[in-house]
Amino acid sequence: MRFLTRAVRSLRDADPAWGASVPPVYFSAGFEKEDPEELARLFAGKDAGFIYSRIGNPTVSAFERAFSSFVSARGAVAVSSGMAAITALVFALSSSGSKVALSRGLFSGTIALFRGVLRRAGIVPVFFDPLDFPSVEKALSEGVDFVFLEVISNPGMGVPHMDSIAVLSHEKGVPLVADCTLTPPGVFSPQKHGVDIAVHSLTKYISGNGTVVGGLIVDTGLFDWTKYKSEPIVSAASKAGEFALLYVLRKDVVQNMGFSISPMHAFLHYLGMETLPLRIKQHCHNALALAEFLAERDEIVSVRYPGLKSDPSYSHACNTLDGLFGGLFTFELKSKEECYAFVGALKLARNIVNIGDSSTLIIHPASTIYADASEEEKRGAGITEGLLRVSVGIEDSEDLIEDFENAFIKIYG
Ligand SMILES: *Cc1c(COP(=O)(O)O)cnc(C)c1O
Repeated sequence: MRFLTRAVRSLRDADPAWGASVPPVYFSAGFEKEDPEELARLFAGKDAGFIYSRIGNPTVSAFERAFSSFVSARGAVAVSSGMAAITALVFALSSSGSKVALSRGLFSGTIALFRGVLRRAGIVPVFFDPLDFPSVEKALSEGVDFVFLEVISNPGMGVPHMDSIAVLSHEKGVPLVADCTLTPPGVFSPQKHGVDIAVHSLTKYISGNGTVVGGLIVDTGLFDWTKYKSEPIVSAASKAGEFALLYVLRKDVVQNMGFSISPMHAFLHYLGMETLPLRIKQHCHNALALAEFLAERDEIVSVRYPGLKSDPSYSHACNTLDGLFGGLFTFELKSKEECYAFVGALKLARNIVNIGDSSTLIIHPASTIYADASEEEKRGAGITEGLLRVSVGIEDSEDLIEDFENAFIKIYG
């Protein structure tokens, strides 16, 4: 099956009971067993089945299997948010005292997570500049448990040289984890570039429509977990072999930390996945059209979009992405005041903080998502007072260009 077909036909057994074409939503906290022996066998892990919805739910499982088959992965674990996905992964791969190699300029929530909760849990970040190879080598020489980066950084817009970072990580025997939120299936193929684990905020492009929050951890199948050196994977590998990461995520971290996703939300993410390949093309085409329009305007200081030939990340993006460059771009005006006036003058684009919505959203990062960041963190992510971030929707690109043009005329005459 090819890409579009897999998106809608990955799930073969949506409803074995009645043949419903989409997975039924199982709203039940617990699952009844006639025979106490049966429940005991499930608890002992001797049979597969459902016990309690924090541990596993048929709708959630259907979505996980469908997504995993869609992207030809080893397996996937769905959780309540993108942040829960990152947190769960950190606790599956490392413990107190572990070092983790982190790229600079990550999503603000990820930076805040490592700066706060994870630092208190004893997990030490070692930062590297994803565009500077010696800095990656230096971070990896410090005995880290894994490498974490974003394929396109949000909102820095940089694209690292993924293949060489993957080679280096694997030489050190550590997995490469990529936050693929900005680069969902259709834009980036993790396996082709040595990515061992893909994490997604489902909230954005996969779910689409800007409805519900959710996260996903995908084991792409490249990494041999029997060779991983840290607990709790080492113990799990003796039981679960190549499925050790999925085993630890499910049986230890997600279940016990309570990161489970609601079956209703899993259902909505499943629906989003079916139309993702069509929607993501329109997001990307619109983003390119609008970024090209802005690049020609005299009023702006700069524009960053990896799909622009003039962008510093263009050549890496061409080697790394599947011919589409994502739905997000940033551009700079001269001051915060100009940014506020510009956002106020737009009629179609909406001042909303998330990304990946069907409609176009714009924010001023310095006063919102980066308001609590240090000067160094802002520099790492390229945040200035004049920067605006645009998440381009699936409207007609002509309407979006008109909206931006009218805003320029209103403010600058
Ligand atoms: C939004 C986002 C997250 C966090 O996802 P939530 O679903 O909001 O928890 C993580 N990484 C990136 C790149 C994001 O854009």
